[in-house]
Amino acid sequence: MTSKEDFDIQAIKDYVPDALWDSFKLNPERLGELRVLEASIYLTRDCNLKCQYCKIIKTELEEELSIERWIEAVDILESLGIRFVNIAGGEPTVVKGLSRLISHLDKNTTMDFSVVSNSLFGDNMARELAEAGLRAYVASVDVLGDDVALDDLRKSSAGIKMLAKLKELGVPYLCANIVVSAQNIDKVMDVVRYLSDEGVWVNICPILWGKGDKWDKIEAADRTYRLGPEHKARLTALSKEIIEYKRTGALILPTEQYIEAMPDYGISLSWKCFDEEKPGPPPRLTIDADGAMMTCINMRGDLSVKHSIFDLKDKDLFEEFISDWWRDASSCTGCYWSTMVMAQERQETLERLKTGSSDLF
Ligand code: SF4
Repeated sequence: MTSKEDFDIQAIKDYVPDALWDSFKLNPERLGELRVLEASIYLTRDCNLKCQYCKIIKTELEEELSIERWIEAVDILESLGIRFVNIAGGEPTVVKGLSRLISHLDKNTTMDFSVVSNSLFGDNMARELAEAGLRAYVASVDVLGDDVALDDLRKSSAGIKMLAKLKELGVPYLCANIVVSAQNIDKVMDVVRYLSDEGVWVNICPILWGKGDKWDKIEAADRTYRLGPEHKARLTALSKEIIEYKRTGALILPTEQYIEAMPDYGISLSWKCFDEEKPGPPPRLTIDADGAMMTCINMRGDLSVKHSIFDLKDKDLFEEFISDWWRDASSCTGCYWSTMVMAQERQETLERLKTGSSDLF
């Protein structure tokens, strides 16, 4: 195991120039037993917007966890050594008691956390979340919709307004997701520049689905949105421009290696979160609104029938969960979700750190 003296956090930061990694409070003493660094929770599958392309809200669960149960669940994540929790949905702000969960995460755990929302909530809720200790907010800046002019986007997007509101309220870390599609590919750079100049971190992800139920299959995706080989040259130029801009110190969340591979994987969607030869843990634990463990943010999987977050307290069950996760995931043809790819990049760094691998530096 890596000794305390070997634990050169600055060298790790230099190796993974990633804002999220910077916030991890890794405990060198517990490093050897750490299996997974991050988790995502679907606080609810309910939403107040119900976009037509969203599959999440189309799955209705018999019962969703109460906030009290979510508090128990995040305590389990803390005991497993998880360093970062992303609270998503559905729409997390429709769940009563969200601010209690935030307050618990802020005051009673050592994990960092963020809330992803469609920003359709009022000033009172914004204040309540900020006062509860919200540290990071992720808005969906919907550049997928109508042919929105940048000025209109600046003025009217609920996401942008909410980011400004939360900045005013002192929420320290603000982020926006931009989905690159065939519709907006030529406008992405303007939006990236605008957000970064406003002090908002930008997450970029190629579109992974179209309209309809077969959202994870590129063949079934809406042709007017999906990225195909005909977009490769424009995607390559966009990646280069984003990387250059990131090098100037712009607030761009994905790593250069993610952005660089976007023209290939963004089209083929063949990146895989698992090693096809060797079983291993998921890059992120993903927990559904009923507490069931999911294969990933994209798949509920067979795993959800057998494993819930509440079983993972038991060490043997946790190991069994890891084998079952790998079996489930290895049937997947792939994706290029930026959150999953970056989680895997950080997971690989963790593994190198644990073995003290010299090729890290
Ligand atoms: S869709 Fe999910 S299981 Fe498949 S490669 Fe992506 S993250 Fe992994």
